[in-house]
Amino acid sequence: MNLHEYQGKKILAQHGVNIQRGVVLDDLNEIDKVSNKLIEETGTKWFVIKAQIHAGGRGKGGGVKLAKNQKELKKVVSSILGMNLVTPQTSNEGKLVRKVLIAEDVYYPGESETKEFYVSILLNRNTGKNMIMYSTEGGVDIESVAEKTPELIFYEDIDPLLGMLPFQARKVAFNLGLSGKAFKEMVKFISLLYKSYVSSDSSLFEINPVLKTSDNKILAVDAKVTLDDNALFRHKDYSEWRDLKEENPVEVEAREVGLNYVDLDGNVGCMVNGAGLAMATMDLIKQSGGEPANFLDVGGTADAKRVETAFRLILKDPNVKAILVNIFGGIVRCDRVAQGIVDAYNNLDDINVPIIVRLQGTNAEIAKKIIDNCDFKVYSATEFQEAADKIQDVLK
Ligand code: GDP
Ligand code: MN
Repeated sequence: MNLHEYQGKKILAQHGVNIQRGVVLDDLNEIDKVSNKLIEETGTKWFVIKAQIHAGGRGKGGGVKLAKNQKELKKVVSSILGMNLVTPQTSNEGKLVRKVLIAEDVYYPGESETKEFYVSILLNRNTGKNMIMYSTEGGVDIESVAEKTPELIFYEDIDPLLGMLPFQARKVAFNLGLSGKAFKEMVKFISLLYKSYVSSDSSLFEINPVLKTSDNKILAVDAKVTLDDNALFRHKDYSEWRDLKEENPVEVEAREVGLNYVDLDGNVGCMVNGAGLAMATMDLIKQSGGEPANFLDVGGTADAKRVETAFRLILKDPNVKAILVNIFGGIVRCDRVAQGIVDAYNNLDDINVPIIVRLQGTNAEIAKKIIDNCDFKVYSATEFQEAADKIQDVLK
């Protein structure tokens, strides 16, 4: 589950990590109230207005702006709130901005220069450890740093059982070229950030930029946080933060009816039972020259009603040119599934994409007869290769 910047920062602050403070606004009428509150709490003179959408690169798209007084603030907020923000990470249509974060200005002049760093924490699946990825080249997009100057990105694996050891936090601060007060602040920042990552059961923290202010404080200016869905039951308060408006509507609908659906970019819809079979089926689709349009696992109970719901969800994607059903009947009987598919096809009047059905397991032969005898564009396949060939045929 992805969070907004203001929610991610709240988690950081709860664990004592220094952040650029701010207030959230979704109603222009509240602006005086909330901006006064921010001034009271932070003493800030300038304001940074930041669009809250689930996409990065907001600065580049005009979703992060500075205002130097409350009058200007009002003007900027009213231009960003309700705008359609297009960034390098959104689609061409962009995203509607429903909330803004009004933050204190932290780039104020002082005794030394400000400096932007990049810090992220994620799971390194190769080593089975958490990993801190960090760079002196913060603020800009890290992808181009990784491409052009990979030597400027550092990695530190953290053993999940030992946690972060003090020397590791010092190593990070050292590699970032810090000394004196800023060095100490960074050591504290990194240790608390890691604790916050672990205790919130996150799978990604990306803080870009981490800022060294002109008076040598270290703080998080941005926060991209992804929580591990499997651990959400331990964080009831965070799960209420889910912003359904930011999520794929078909995925939201699927979750409500207990189907495991992930939207993808291709042209062949898949309906399977079991995640392993889903992986194999997506490979099969690729080999046959198609691209999977989705990952849909109907789970153990592939009854007629679920099959119909699954078809409805898959067909919401206009790119779907064919559907491959690949179901293994262990407990579920293949003939029931086959009948369910035929009935669903019959019930859905707007369906005209061909369906290739591969059913294996209990009563597979009866199932094949049901499919072969129906009058719809539903075709049976027994072997994997046969299914792949038939997909290739219908995509021609
Ligand atoms: P992103 O573009 O979506 O990654 O949004 P960020 O939160 O990272 O902000 C983008 C940029 O806005 C930062 O890299 C800063 O250069 C700038 N910015 C953020 N906060 C402040 C601030 O307090 N003062 C000033 N002057 N610039 C800021
Ligand atoms: Mn950023």
